[in-house]
Amino acid sequence: MTVSLVTGGAGFVGSHLCDRLIADGADVLCVDNFFTGPKSNVSHLRREERFELLRHDVTIPLFVEADRIYNLACPASPVHYQHDPVQTTKTSVHGAINMLELATRSKARILQASTSEIYGDPDVHPQPETYTGRVNPIGPRACYDEGKRCAETLFFDFHRQYSLEIKVVRIFNTYGPRMDPNDGRVVSNFIVQALRGDDITIYGDGQQTRSFCYVDDLVDGLVRMMHSESSVTGPINIGNPGEFTMLQLAELVLRLVGSKSRLRFMPLPIDDPKQRQPDIRLAKEVLGWEPKVGLEDGLVETISYFRRRLTQS
Ligand code: NAD
Ligand code: UDP
Repeated sequence: MTVSLVTGGAGFVGSHLCDRLIADGADVLCVDNFFTGPKSNVSHLRREERFELLRHDVTIPLFVEADRIYNLACPASPVHYQHDPVQTTKTSVHGAINMLELATRSKARILQASTSEIYGDPDVHPQPETYTGRVNPIGPRACYDEGKRCAETLFFDFHRQYSLEIKVVRIFNTYGPRMDPNDGRVVSNFIVQALRGDDITIYGDGQQTRSFCYVDDLVDGLVRMMHSESSVTGPINIGNPGEFTMLQLAELVLRLVGSKSRLRFMPLPIDDPKQRQPDIRLAKEVLGWEPKVGLEDGLVETISYFRRRLTQS
């Protein structure tokens, strides 16, 4: 019997990962403090005998047995991670130490959900894993970016010092059903605004770019990484190389929703990266992974999720 522990398992990505692991026949222990992930994201799994849910904050040590640990606990949207920046850094750094120590005790494999934010506002484009990034260490995004960078450092030091089996994945912007409508991320904001007929809030001139990966593709990449040969540590980029400006995204969402919302231009947040596109050659070569869901198809699924959700509330 294989026990997979998923920290942040009630979150947007974590809940889809729990679904996939249960479908694959694993025993799943979902650990979450429900800061940004509601219990309702995993309530459908509570009927499963192989699923357990534990309220726990990863900044506190955890003593359980597990074979595989997926470490996803951390608020991911700027609105949420800047709400209590000290707690965000603690979640990344203390959380990583606690989960790495748990993995060492249990002789488990451990995967870290790292992020494209470790590249900061990049001056190399697209971003390969060899690029070491351009992060402002004292800005409002640093609690997240530097916390995640330090977590990567800890993963590689545990690997070198204690021969721990580690897997580090750098996740680029991901979207899909179960995103929180109030977390301020661009895809959820635009869809909710378009459905409600509210103005679409474009920060800056809307020419900054992002690459959006559908959540099912990401989850497949995470599982493939966990099952890769022991010699594969990463870091490996997982993301969809399709690159869009925020204006292009807004136009696409408006068309797919059939909305007459207008664009409203607002100030660009501090340190907002100008461009973002993953170089996924390594993921293709080492994991045989590449995204399958294009932006338009993924948005259609996500829009119908938000449509249902908004009519329920
Ligand atoms: P999310 O906010 O929906 O999920 C994070 C989960 O972690 C939530 O359920 C939250 O309650 C939990 N959590 C937060 N602090 C915790 C703590 N101290 N102890 C226990 N649980 C805690 O975010 P998400 O989009 O699902 O992101 C999941 C992971 O993937 C994060 O580590 C994030 O940094 C990473 N990631 C996500 C994206 C993306 O676009 N979604 C991009 C890059 C990296
Ligand atoms: N953004 C925007 N309008 C919004 C929310 C975000 O124009 O209502 C922009 C934001 O400034 C950034 C991009 O969309 O340039 C992606 O923002 P998000 O917070 O989703 O992700 P991140 O900046 O962490 O990549």
